[in-house]
Amino acid sequence: FGLITDCIRQHAQAAPQRLALRDPQAQLDYAALDARMDRVAAALQQAGVAPGSAIALCALASVDYAAVFLGALRAGVAVAPLAPGSTAQSLQRMVANAQATLLFVDPTGLEALGGQAPEGVTLVGIGPAPLPESPGLQALQPWLDAAPAPMQPVQVGPEAPFNIIYSSGTTGEPKGIVQSHRMRWAHVQRGQSYGYGPETVTLLSTPLYSNTTLVVFFPTLAFGGCVLLQPKFDAGTWLRTAEAHRVTHTMLVPVQYQRLLAHPDFDRTDLRSFQMKFCTSAPFSAALKADALARWPGGLVEFYGMTEGGGTCLLEAHLHPDKLHTVGRPAPGSDIRLIDEAGQQLPPGSVGQAGEVVGRSEGMMTGYHRQPEKTREAEWFSPEGLRFIRTGDVGRFDAEGFLTLADRKKDLVISGGFNIYPSDLEAVLREHPGVADAAVVGVPSAQWGETPVAFVVRRDGAENIDSAALLSWANARLGKTQRLSALQWIDELPRSAIGKVLKRELRDAWVGTTA
Ligand code: ATP
Ligand code: MG
Repeated sequence: FGLITDCIRQHAQAAPQRLALRDPQAQLDYAALDARMDRVAAALQQAGVAPGSAIALCALASVDYAAVFLGALRAGVAVAPLAPGSTAQSLQRMVANAQATLLFVDPTGLEALGGQAPEGVTLVGIGPAPLPESPGLQALQPWLDAAPAPMQPVQVGPEAPFNIIYSSGTTGEPKGIVQSHRMRWAHVQRGQSYGYGPETVTLLSTPLYSNTTLVVFFPTLAFGGCVLLQPKFDAGTWLRTAEAHRVTHTMLVPVQYQRLLAHPDFDRTDLRSFQMKFCTSAPFSAALKADALARWPGGLVEFYGMTEGGGTCLLEAHLHPDKLHTVGRPAPGSDIRLIDEAGQQLPPGSVGQAGEVVGRSEGMMTGYHRQPEKTREAEWFSPEGLRFIRTGDVGRFDAEGFLTLADRKKDLVISGGFNIYPSDLEAVLREHPGVADAAVVGVPSAQWGETPVAFVVRRDGAENIDSAALLSWANARLGKTQRLSALQWIDELPRSAIGKVLKRELRDAWVGTTA
Protein backbone atom coordinates (compact mmCIF):
# COMPACT_ATOMS: atom_id res chain seq x y z
CA PHE A 1 0.00 0.00 0.00
CA GLY A 2 1.12 3.54 -0.71
CA LEU A 3 -0.27 7.04 -0.85
CA ILE A 4 -0.77 8.87 -4.13
CA THR A 5 0.17 12.13 -2.41
CA ASP A 6 3.53 10.60 -1.37
CA CYS A 7 4.19 9.57 -4.98
CA ILE A 8 3.67 13.20 -6.01
CA ARG A 9 6.13 14.37 -3.37
CA GLN A 10 8.71 11.90 -4.68
CA HIS A 11 8.27 13.17 -8.25
CA ALA A 12 8.56 16.76 -6.98
CA GLN A 13 11.92 15.86 -5.46
CA ALA A 14 13.21 13.80 -8.38
CA ALA A 15 11.97 15.99 -11.23
CA PRO A 16 10.68 19.29 -9.81
CA GLN A 17 10.23 20.97 -13.16
CA ARG A 18 8.35 18.18 -14.90
CA LEU A 19 4.85 19.25 -15.87
CA ALA A 20 2.13 17.66 -13.73
CA LEU A 21 -1.07 19.47 -14.65
CA ARG A 22 -2.28 21.78 -17.36
CA ASP A 23 -5.68 23.29 -18.17
CA PRO A 24 -6.38 25.79 -20.97
CA GLN A 25 -5.29 28.70 -18.72
CA ALA A 26 -2.86 27.40 -16.13
CA GLN A 27 -0.23 24.79 -15.41
CA LEU A 28 1.77 23.40 -12.50
CA ASP A 29 5.01 21.45 -12.49
CA TYR A 30 5.54 18.76 -9.84
CA ALA A 31 7.36 21.07 -7.42
CA ALA A 32 4.65 23.72 -7.67
CA LEU A 33 1.88 21.14 -7.34
CA ASP A 34 3.52 19.62 -4.29
CA ALA A 35 3.95 23.04 -2.65
CA ARG A 36 0.36 23.96 -3.49
CA MET A 37 -0.90 20.73 -1.91
CA ASP A 38 0.97 21.58 1.29
CA ARG A 39 -0.62 25.03 1.34
CA VAL A 40 -4.12 23.61 0.84
CA ALA A 41 -3.51 20.98 3.54
CA ALA A 42 -2.25 23.64 5.97
CA ALA A 43 -5.23 25.92 5.30
CA LEU A 44 -7.66 23.05 5.85
CA GLN A 45 -5.95 22.25 9.15
CA GLN A 46 -6.24 25.85 10.24
CA ALA A 47 -9.87 25.92 9.22
CA GLY A 48 -10.35 22.99 11.60
CA VAL A 49 -11.23 20.41 8.96
CA ALA A 50 -10.32 17.15 10.69
CA PRO A 51 -8.79 14.08 9.02
CA GLY A 52 -11.55 11.66 8.08
CA SER A 53 -14.10 14.40 7.40
CA ALA A 54 -14.89 15.72 3.93
CA ILE A 55 -14.76 18.90 1.89
CA ALA A 56 -16.86 19.36 -1.25
CA LEU A 57 -15.88 20.62 -4.71
CA CYS A 58 -18.33 21.78 -7.34
CA ALA A 59 -16.61 23.08 -10.46
CA LEU A 60 -15.39 22.33 -13.95
CA ALA A 61 -12.03 20.59 -14.17
CA SER A 62 -9.07 22.91 -13.63
CA VAL A 63 -5.56 22.94 -12.20
CA ASP A 64 -6.94 24.58 -9.03
CA TYR A 65 -9.55 21.85 -8.71
CA ALA A 66 -6.89 19.15 -8.91
CA ALA A 67 -4.59 20.93 -6.44
CA VAL A 68 -7.38 21.36 -3.86
CA PHE A 69 -8.40 17.69 -4.26
CA LEU A 70 -4.82 16.47 -3.79
CA GLY A 71 -4.08 18.92 -0.97
CA ALA A 72 -7.11 17.73 0.97
CA LEU A 73 -5.94 14.13 0.56
CA ARG A 74 -2.57 15.08 2.01
CA ALA A 75 -4.36 16.43 5.09
CA GLY A 76 -6.23 13.12 5.41
CA VAL A 77 -9.44 14.89 4.39
CA ALA A 78 -11.81 13.17 1.97
CA VAL A 79 -13.20 14.96 -1.05
CA ALA A 80 -16.78 14.96 -2.27
CA PRO A 81 -16.59 16.10 -5.90
CA LEU A 82 -20.05 17.21 -7.03
CA ALA A 83 -21.50 17.52 -10.52
CA PRO A 84 -22.13 21.16 -11.42
CA GLY A 85 -24.87 19.92 -13.74
CA SER A 86 -27.01 18.99 -10.72
CA THR A 87 -29.87 21.07 -9.40
CA ALA A 88 -29.26 23.37 -6.43
CA GLN A 89 -31.50 21.16 -4.33
CA SER A 90 -29.62 18.01 -5.20
CA LEU A 91 -26.27 19.75 -4.52
CA GLN A 92 -27.51 20.85 -1.11
CA ARG A 93 -28.51 17.27 -0.30
CA MET A 94 -25.09 15.99 -1.35
CA VAL A 95 -23.20 18.61 0.68
CA ALA A 96 -25.36 17.74 3.68
CA ASN A 97 -24.83 14.00 3.14
CA ALA A 98 -21.05 14.52 2.97
CA GLN A 99 -21.25 16.75 6.10
CA ALA A 100 -18.92 19.18 4.36
CA THR A 101 -18.50 22.64 5.87
CA LEU A 102 -16.19 23.91 3.12
CA LEU A 103 -17.24 23.98 -0.51
CA PHE A 104 -14.88 24.96 -3.33
CA VAL A 105 -16.67 26.40 -6.36
CA ASP A 106 -15.92 28.02 -9.69
CA PRO A 107 -18.44 30.29 -11.43
CA THR A 108 -20.20 27.26 -12.96
CA GLY A 109 -20.53 25.53 -9.59
CA LEU A 110 -21.67 28.74 -7.91
CA GLU A 111 -24.36 29.23 -10.50
CA ALA A 112 -25.53 25.64 -10.06
CA LEU A 113 -25.93 26.37 -6.35
CA GLY A 114 -28.17 29.30 -7.18
CA GLY A 115 -25.40 31.78 -6.32
CA GLN A 116 -25.22 31.09 -2.61
CA ALA A 117 -23.74 28.75 -0.06
CA PRO A 118 -25.86 26.06 1.56
CA GLU A 119 -26.51 26.87 5.20
CA GLY A 120 -23.50 26.53 7.47
CA VAL A 121 -21.10 26.09 4.55
CA THR A 122 -18.17 28.35 3.67
CA LEU A 123 -17.45 28.93 -0.01
CA VAL A 124 -13.97 29.22 -1.50
CA GLY A 125 -13.66 30.23 -5.14
CA ILE A 126 -11.35 28.36 -7.52
CA GLY A 127 -10.68 28.08 -11.22
CA PRO A 128 -9.20 30.23 -13.93
CA ALA A 129 -12.32 32.30 -14.65
CA PRO A 130 -12.97 35.41 -12.54
CA LEU A 131 -15.40 34.85 -9.71
CA PRO A 132 -18.58 36.85 -9.41
CA GLU A 133 -19.22 38.88 -6.27
CA SER A 134 -21.10 36.75 -3.80
CA PRO A 135 -21.62 37.21 -0.09
CA GLY A 136 -19.21 35.08 1.92
CA LEU A 137 -17.26 33.91 -1.13
CA GLN A 138 -13.50 34.07 -0.76
CA ALA A 139 -11.01 33.39 -3.54
CA LEU A 140 -8.55 30.52 -3.08
CA GLN A 141 -5.35 32.60 -2.91
CA PRO A 142 -6.45 34.97 -0.12
CA TRP A 143 -7.93 31.99 1.69
CA LEU A 144 -4.54 30.22 1.52
CA ASP A 145 -2.64 33.41 2.44
CA ALA A 146 -4.76 33.82 5.55
CA ALA A 147 -3.33 30.55 6.90
CA PRO A 148 0.45 30.96 6.69
CA ALA A 149 1.52 28.25 9.20
CA PRO A 150 3.08 25.10 7.68
CA MET A 151 1.02 21.95 7.58
CA GLN A 152 1.28 19.37 10.34
CA PRO A 153 2.12 15.90 8.99
CA VAL A 154 -0.83 13.50 9.05
CA GLN A 155 -0.81 9.70 9.11
CA VAL A 156 -3.24 8.40 6.49
CA GLY A 157 -4.06 4.69 6.56
CA PRO A 158 -5.41 2.46 3.81
CA GLU A 159 -8.97 2.48 5.17
CA ALA A 160 -9.19 6.26 5.46
CA PRO A 161 -11.83 7.74 3.15
CA PHE A 162 -10.32 9.12 -0.04
CA ASN A 163 -13.41 10.47 -1.71
CA ILE A 164 -17.18 10.30 -1.64
CA ILE A 165 -18.37 10.03 -5.22
CA TYR A 166 -22.04 10.57 -5.88
CA SER A 167 -23.33 7.98 -8.33
CA SER A 168 -24.54 9.28 -11.67
CA GLY A 169 -28.15 9.14 -10.59
CA THR A 170 -28.95 7.36 -13.84
CA THR A 171 -31.49 5.19 -12.07
CA GLY A 172 -32.51 7.32 -9.07
CA GLU A 173 -31.20 9.73 -6.43
CA PRO A 174 -27.39 9.86 -6.41
CA LYS A 175 -25.80 7.78 -3.67
CA GLY A 176 -22.57 8.79 -1.93
CA ILE A 177 -20.01 6.07 -2.57
CA VAL A 178 -17.15 6.06 -0.10
CA GLN A 179 -13.87 4.93 -1.63
CA SER A 180 -10.82 4.39 0.53
CA HIS A 181 -7.14 5.11 -0.07
CA ARG A 182 -6.68 1.35 -0.44
CA MET A 183 -9.19 1.28 -3.28
CA ARG A 184 -7.48 4.12 -5.14
CA TRP A 185 -4.13 2.46 -4.62
CA ALA A 186 -5.50 -0.70 -6.24
CA HIS A 187 -6.22 1.39 -9.37
CA VAL A 188 -2.69 2.76 -9.32
CA GLN A 189 -1.21 -0.71 -9.16
CA ARG A 190 -3.30 -1.83 -12.08
CA GLY A 191 -1.83 1.13 -13.97
CA GLN A 192 1.48 -0.70 -14.29
CA SER A 193 0.09 -2.79 -17.09
CA TYR A 194 -1.02 0.26 -19.07
CA GLY A 195 2.41 1.79 -19.50
CA TYR A 196 2.01 4.85 -17.27
CA GLY A 197 5.29 6.57 -16.48
CA PRO A 198 7.04 9.94 -16.45
CA GLU A 199 6.59 10.20 -20.24
CA THR A 200 2.83 9.76 -20.00
CA VAL A 201 0.65 12.60 -21.27
CA THR A 202 -3.01 11.95 -20.43
CA LEU A 203 -5.76 14.04 -21.96
CA LEU A 204 -8.98 14.10 -19.93
CA SER A 205 -12.17 15.76 -21.02
CA THR A 206 -14.65 13.95 -18.82
CA PRO A 207 -15.48 15.65 -15.50
CA LEU A 208 -13.31 15.24 -12.42
CA TYR A 209 -16.30 14.37 -10.24
CA SER A 210 -16.71 11.09 -12.08
CA ASN A 211 -14.88 7.90 -11.27
CA THR A 212 -14.55 7.41 -15.03
CA THR A 213 -12.02 10.24 -15.06
CA LEU A 214 -10.42 9.60 -11.70
CA VAL A 215 -9.42 6.01 -12.51
CA VAL A 216 -7.00 7.48 -15.05
CA PHE A 217 -6.22 10.82 -13.38
CA PHE A 218 -4.66 9.44 -10.18
CA PRO A 219 -2.53 6.69 -11.78
CA THR A 220 -1.11 9.21 -14.29
CA LEU A 221 0.10 11.45 -11.44
CA ALA A 222 1.20 8.56 -9.23
CA PHE A 223 3.52 7.42 -12.04
CA GLY A 224 4.82 10.95 -12.60
CA GLY A 225 3.04 11.70 -15.87
CA CYS A 226 1.24 14.83 -16.98
CA VAL A 227 -2.53 15.38 -17.03
CA LEU A 228 -4.05 17.78 -19.55
CA LEU A 229 -7.52 18.86 -18.50
CA GLN A 230 -10.05 19.89 -21.12
CA PRO A 231 -12.97 21.13 -19.02
CA LYS A 232 -15.47 21.13 -21.88
CA PHE A 233 -15.33 18.47 -24.56
CA ASP A 234 -15.15 19.68 -28.13
CA ALA A 235 -14.03 17.14 -30.73
CA GLY A 236 -12.03 19.57 -32.89
CA THR A 237 -10.16 21.08 -29.93
CA TRP A 238 -9.60 17.65 -28.51
CA LEU A 239 -7.92 16.41 -31.70
CA ARG A 240 -5.71 19.51 -31.96
CA THR A 241 -4.67 19.18 -28.30
CA ALA A 242 -3.91 15.47 -28.68
CA GLU A 243 -1.66 16.09 -31.65
CA ALA A 244 0.07 19.20 -30.27
CA HIS A 245 0.93 17.60 -26.91
CA ARG A 246 1.70 14.13 -28.23
CA VAL A 247 -0.88 12.57 -25.94
CA THR A 248 -0.21 8.96 -24.91
CA HIS A 249 -3.25 8.04 -22.80
CA THR A 250 -6.87 9.04 -22.59
CA MET A 251 -10.24 8.04 -21.18
CA LEU A 252 -13.29 8.77 -23.28
CA VAL A 253 -16.91 7.70 -23.05
CA PRO A 254 -18.56 6.04 -26.07
CA VAL A 255 -20.28 9.17 -27.43
CA GLN A 256 -16.93 10.95 -27.41
CA TYR A 257 -15.37 8.13 -29.45
CA GLN A 258 -18.27 8.50 -31.83
CA ARG A 259 -17.86 12.28 -32.18
CA LEU A 260 -14.09 12.10 -32.59
CA LEU A 261 -14.16 9.32 -35.19
CA ALA A 262 -16.87 11.18 -37.13
CA HIS A 263 -14.99 14.50 -37.04
CA PRO A 264 -13.73 15.69 -40.44
CA ASP A 265 -10.23 16.29 -38.97
CA PHE A 266 -9.88 12.83 -37.47
CA ASP A 267 -7.99 11.18 -40.31
CA ARG A 268 -5.80 14.26 -40.77
CA THR A 269 -4.71 14.30 -37.12
CA ASP A 270 -1.45 12.61 -36.14
CA LEU A 271 -2.39 10.30 -33.27
CA ARG A 272 0.64 8.02 -33.43
CA SER A 273 1.76 9.09 -29.95
CA PHE A 274 -1.14 7.14 -28.40
CA GLN A 275 -0.25 4.12 -26.29
CA MET A 276 -3.53 3.41 -24.54
CA LYS A 277 -7.11 4.56 -24.81
CA PHE A 278 -9.73 3.66 -22.25
CA CYS A 279 -13.49 3.62 -22.36
CA THR A 280 -16.16 3.00 -19.75
CA SER A 281 -19.52 4.06 -18.33
CA ALA A 282 -22.02 3.23 -21.09
CA PRO A 283 -22.58 0.67 -23.85
CA PHE A 284 -19.77 0.88 -26.43
CA SER A 285 -20.94 -0.76 -29.64
CA ALA A 286 -18.85 -3.41 -31.38
CA ALA A 287 -18.93 -1.34 -34.58
CA LEU A 288 -17.53 1.71 -32.83
CA LYS A 289 -14.81 -0.34 -31.13
CA ALA A 290 -13.85 -1.83 -34.49
CA ASP A 291 -13.69 1.64 -36.04
CA ALA A 292 -11.48 2.92 -33.22
CA LEU A 293 -9.17 -0.10 -33.56
CA ALA A 294 -8.87 0.39 -37.31
CA ARG A 295 -8.27 4.13 -37.41
CA TRP A 296 -6.62 5.05 -34.13
CA PRO A 297 -3.14 3.83 -33.15
CA GLY A 298 -2.43 2.30 -29.73
CA GLY A 299 -4.31 -0.11 -27.50
CA LEU A 300 -7.98 0.13 -26.63
CA VAL A 301 -9.23 -1.07 -23.25
CA GLU A 302 -12.84 -1.04 -22.19
CA PHE A 303 -13.78 -1.28 -18.53
CA TYR A 304 -17.10 -2.38 -17.24
CA GLY A 305 -17.73 -1.66 -13.62
CA MET A 306 -19.40 0.67 -11.23
CA THR A 307 -18.26 3.44 -8.92
CA GLU A 308 -19.12 1.12 -6.03
CA GLY A 309 -16.15 -0.94 -7.18
CA GLY A 310 -17.83 -4.33 -7.10
CA GLY A 311 -15.35 -5.81 -9.55
CA THR A 312 -14.37 -4.87 -13.04
CA CYS A 313 -14.45 -6.60 -16.39
CA LEU A 314 -11.95 -5.49 -18.92
CA LEU A 315 -11.71 -5.98 -22.62
CA GLU A 316 -8.34 -5.45 -24.25
CA ALA A 317 -10.01 -4.84 -27.58
CA HIS A 318 -6.73 -4.81 -29.56
CA LEU A 319 -6.02 -8.36 -28.33
CA HIS A 320 -9.52 -9.76 -28.80
CA PRO A 321 -10.95 -8.32 -32.03
CA ASP A 322 -13.44 -11.21 -32.14
CA LYS A 323 -14.94 -10.22 -28.75
CA LEU A 324 -15.90 -6.64 -29.41
CA HIS A 325 -19.56 -7.31 -28.60
CA THR A 326 -18.53 -8.15 -25.01
CA VAL A 327 -17.17 -6.11 -22.09
CA GLY A 328 -14.39 -8.64 -21.62
CA ARG A 329 -13.43 -10.86 -18.75
CA PRO A 330 -13.11 -10.20 -15.01
CA ALA A 331 -9.99 -8.17 -14.27
CA PRO A 332 -7.34 -9.77 -12.04
CA GLY A 333 -8.59 -9.59 -8.47
CA SER A 334 -12.24 -9.23 -9.51
CA ASP A 335 -14.80 -11.94 -8.87
CA ILE A 336 -17.83 -11.51 -11.11
CA ARG A 337 -20.85 -13.78 -10.82
CA LEU A 338 -24.47 -13.88 -12.00
CA ILE A 339 -27.54 -14.32 -9.84
CA ASP A 340 -31.16 -15.06 -10.66
CA GLU A 341 -34.35 -13.26 -9.59
CA ALA A 342 -34.41 -15.15 -6.30
CA GLY A 343 -30.83 -14.12 -5.52
CA GLN A 344 -29.45 -17.62 -6.19
CA GLN A 345 -26.10 -17.82 -7.89
CA LEU A 346 -26.20 -19.24 -11.42
CA PRO A 347 -24.00 -22.36 -11.62
CA PRO A 348 -20.37 -21.29 -12.14
CA GLY A 349 -19.43 -21.63 -15.78
CA SER A 350 -23.01 -21.49 -17.03
CA VAL A 351 -22.90 -20.25 -20.59
CA GLY A 352 -25.48 -18.00 -22.21
CA GLN A 353 -27.73 -17.79 -19.17
CA ALA A 354 -28.76 -14.26 -18.23
CA GLY A 355 -28.57 -13.02 -14.66
CA GLU A 356 -27.86 -9.93 -12.61
CA VAL A 357 -24.16 -9.19 -12.42
CA VAL A 358 -22.66 -9.10 -8.93
CA GLY A 359 -19.02 -8.43 -8.25
CA ARG A 360 -16.34 -8.04 -5.63
CA SER A 361 -12.77 -6.80 -5.65
CA GLU A 362 -10.20 -5.24 -3.42
CA GLY A 363 -11.33 -1.84 -4.62
CA MET A 364 -14.84 -2.21 -3.23
CA MET A 365 -16.71 0.60 -1.48
CA THR A 366 -17.16 0.42 2.24
CA GLY A 367 -20.75 1.50 1.73
CA TYR A 368 -22.98 4.39 0.77
CA HIS A 369 -22.26 7.36 2.97
CA ARG A 370 -24.69 7.45 5.88
CA GLN A 371 -27.21 5.30 4.00
CA PRO A 372 -26.98 1.86 5.64
CA GLU A 373 -30.33 0.80 4.15
CA LYS A 374 -29.18 1.49 0.61
CA THR A 375 -25.88 -0.23 1.35
CA ARG A 376 -27.67 -3.37 2.48
CA GLU A 377 -29.85 -3.35 -0.65
CA ALA A 378 -26.72 -3.24 -2.79
CA GLU A 379 -25.02 -6.16 -1.06
CA TRP A 380 -25.22 -9.80 -1.97
CA PHE A 381 -23.53 -12.59 -0.02
CA SER A 382 -22.23 -15.64 -1.82
CA PRO A 383 -22.88 -19.19 -0.53
CA GLU A 384 -19.36 -19.13 0.97
CA GLY A 385 -20.20 -15.87 2.78
CA LEU A 386 -18.28 -13.37 0.63
CA ARG A 387 -19.63 -9.85 0.23
CA PHE A 388 -20.51 -8.78 -3.31
CA ILE A 389 -22.10 -5.63 -4.74
CA ARG A 390 -25.13 -5.91 -7.01
CA THR A 391 -24.75 -3.94 -10.22
CA GLY A 392 -28.37 -3.89 -11.36
CA ASP A 393 -27.06 -4.88 -14.80
CA VAL A 394 -28.09 -8.04 -16.63
CA GLY A 395 -25.41 -10.02 -18.40
CA ARG A 396 -24.37 -13.44 -19.67
CA PHE A 397 -21.03 -15.21 -20.04
CA ASP A 398 -19.86 -16.96 -23.19
CA ALA A 399 -17.86 -20.19 -23.25
CA GLU A 400 -14.55 -18.31 -23.00
CA GLY A 401 -15.73 -16.34 -19.96
CA PHE A 402 -16.38 -13.03 -21.74
CA LEU A 403 -19.34 -11.08 -20.40
CA THR A 404 -22.02 -9.61 -22.66
CA LEU A 405 -24.26 -7.00 -21.09
CA ALA A 406 -27.93 -6.82 -21.82
CA ASP A 407 -29.62 -3.97 -20.01
CA ARG A 408 -29.95 -2.46 -16.62
CA LYS A 409 -32.57 -4.39 -14.67
CA LYS A 410 -34.53 -1.18 -14.15
CA ASP A 411 -34.68 -0.68 -17.92
CA LEU A 412 -36.07 -4.15 -18.73
CA VAL A 413 -39.56 -3.96 -20.15
CA ILE A 414 -41.96 -6.54 -18.84
CA SER A 415 -44.79 -6.76 -21.31
CA GLY A 416 -47.57 -9.31 -21.07
CA GLY A 417 -45.30 -11.40 -18.83
CA PHE A 418 -42.39 -11.40 -21.27
CA ASN A 419 -39.00 -9.85 -20.54
CA ILE A 420 -38.00 -7.49 -23.32
CA TYR A 421 -34.39 -6.31 -23.48
CA PRO A 422 -34.39 -2.76 -24.87
CA SER A 423 -30.83 -3.20 -26.13
CA ASP A 424 -31.99 -5.93 -28.56
CA LEU A 425 -34.57 -3.56 -30.02
CA GLU A 426 -32.09 -0.67 -30.16
CA ALA A 427 -29.64 -2.86 -32.06
CA VAL A 428 -32.30 -3.64 -34.70
CA LEU A 429 -33.21 0.04 -35.08
CA ARG A 430 -29.55 1.03 -35.48
CA GLU A 431 -29.25 -1.34 -38.43
CA HIS A 432 -31.55 0.93 -40.43
CA PRO A 433 -29.50 3.26 -42.65
CA GLY A 434 -31.60 6.27 -41.65
CA VAL A 435 -31.01 5.80 -37.92
CA ALA A 436 -28.13 7.50 -36.11
CA ASP A 437 -29.10 6.40 -32.62
CA ALA A 438 -32.00 4.87 -30.76
CA ALA A 439 -33.24 4.30 -27.22
CA VAL A 440 -36.10 2.03 -26.21
CA VAL A 441 -37.97 2.41 -22.93
CA GLY A 442 -40.96 0.72 -21.35
CA VAL A 443 -44.06 2.83 -20.76
CA PRO A 444 -47.26 1.93 -18.93
CA SER A 445 -49.84 0.05 -20.99
CA ALA A 446 -53.36 -0.84 -19.88
CA GLN A 447 -53.25 -4.01 -21.96
CA TRP A 448 -49.72 -5.34 -21.32
CA GLY A 449 -48.63 -3.68 -18.10
CA GLU A 450 -45.72 -2.16 -19.96
CA THR A 451 -44.93 -1.78 -23.61
CA PRO A 452 -41.75 -0.75 -25.46
CA VAL A 453 -41.55 2.56 -27.33
CA ALA A 454 -38.59 3.89 -29.28
CA PHE A 455 -36.95 7.30 -29.46
CA VAL A 456 -34.91 7.57 -32.63
CA VAL A 457 -32.32 10.07 -33.84
CA ARG A 458 -32.32 10.59 -37.59
CA ARG A 459 -29.13 10.32 -39.60
CA ASP A 460 -28.32 13.43 -41.65
CA GLY A 461 -29.95 13.15 -45.04
CA ALA A 462 -32.65 10.74 -43.88
CA GLU A 463 -35.40 13.37 -43.62
CA ASN A 464 -37.77 11.48 -45.92
CA ILE A 465 -38.22 8.41 -43.71
CA ASP A 466 -41.42 8.59 -41.71
CA SER A 467 -41.92 7.15 -38.29
CA ALA A 468 -44.72 4.77 -39.26
CA ALA A 469 -42.57 3.22 -42.00
CA LEU A 470 -39.61 2.82 -39.65
CA LEU A 471 -41.86 1.30 -36.99
CA SER A 472 -43.14 -1.39 -39.36
CA TRP A 473 -39.62 -1.97 -40.70
CA ALA A 474 -38.39 -2.61 -37.14
CA ASN A 475 -41.38 -4.68 -36.07
CA ALA A 476 -40.94 -6.93 -39.11
CA ARG A 477 -37.50 -7.80 -37.75
CA LEU A 478 -38.49 -8.23 -34.09
CA GLY A 479 -39.95 -11.25 -32.35
CA LYS A 480 -43.71 -11.29 -31.76
CA THR A 481 -43.35 -10.53 -28.06
CA GLN A 482 -40.79 -7.77 -28.67
CA ARG A 483 -42.73 -5.46 -30.96
CA LEU A 484 -42.62 -1.72 -30.46
CA SER A 485 -45.94 -0.01 -29.95
CA ALA A 486 -44.73 3.44 -30.98
CA LEU A 487 -41.77 5.33 -32.31
CA GLN A 488 -40.87 8.98 -32.05
CA TRP A 489 -38.14 11.06 -33.67
CA ILE A 490 -35.94 13.01 -31.30
CA ASP A 491 -33.15 15.49 -32.13
CA GLU A 492 -30.76 14.09 -29.58
CA LEU A 493 -30.99 11.48 -26.82
CA PRO A 494 -30.87 13.05 -23.36
CA ARG A 495 -27.49 12.19 -21.83
CA SER A 496 -25.70 12.83 -18.56
CA ALA A 497 -22.43 14.78 -18.57
CA ILE A 498 -20.58 11.49 -18.94
CA GLY A 499 -22.66 10.32 -21.85
CA LYS A 500 -25.17 7.96 -20.27
CA VAL A 501 -28.58 7.93 -21.92
CA LEU A 502 -31.11 9.15 -19.37
CA LYS A 503 -33.93 6.69 -19.92
CA ARG A 504 -35.81 8.07 -16.94
CA GLU A 505 -36.20 11.36 -18.81
CA LEU A 506 -37.46 9.61 -21.92
CA ARG A 507 -40.05 7.68 -19.92
CA ASP A 508 -41.18 10.84 -18.14
CA ALA A 509 -41.37 12.73 -21.44
CA TRP A 510 -43.49 9.99 -22.95
CA VAL A 511 -45.85 9.75 -20.03
CA GLY A 512 -46.07 13.57 -20.01
CA THR A 513 -47.04 13.86 -23.67
CA THR A 514 -49.55 11.01 -23.70
CA ALA A 515 -51.21 11.70 -20.33
P1 ATP B 1 -26.81 5.28 -10.45
O1 ATP B 1 -26.27 4.12 -9.70
O2 ATP B 1 -26.96 6.51 -9.61
O3 ATP B 1 -28.04 4.98 -11.23
P2 ATP B 1 -24.76 4.76 -12.42
O4 ATP B 1 -24.95 3.33 -12.07
O5 ATP B 1 -24.95 5.13 -13.86
O6 ATP B 1 -25.69 5.71 -11.53
P3 ATP B 1 -21.86 4.62 -12.30
O7 ATP B 1 -21.31 3.92 -11.13
O8 ATP B 1 -21.11 5.78 -12.83
O9 ATP B 1 -23.30 5.20 -11.97
O10 ATP B 1 -22.03 3.63 -13.52
C1 ATP B 1 -22.02 2.24 -13.42
C2 ATP B 1 -22.94 1.66 -14.46
O11 ATP B 1 -22.56 2.12 -15.78
C3 ATP B 1 -22.90 0.17 -14.57
O12 ATP B 1 -23.76 -0.43 -13.61
C4 ATP B 1 -23.37 -0.08 -16.01
O13 ATP B 1 -24.77 -0.02 -16.11
C5 ATP B 1 -22.80 1.12 -16.75
N1 ATP B 1 -21.52 0.76 -17.41
C6 ATP B 1 -20.27 0.92 -16.93
N2 ATP B 1 -19.35 0.48 -17.79
C7 ATP B 1 -20.01 0.03 -18.87
C8 ATP B 1 -19.61 -0.58 -20.10
N3 ATP B 1 -18.34 -0.78 -20.41
N4 ATP B 1 -20.60 -0.94 -20.96
C9 ATP B 1 -21.90 -0.74 -20.66
N5 ATP B 1 -22.33 -0.18 -19.52
C10 ATP B 1 -21.40 0.20 -18.62
MG1 MG C 1 -25.19 2.36 -10.26
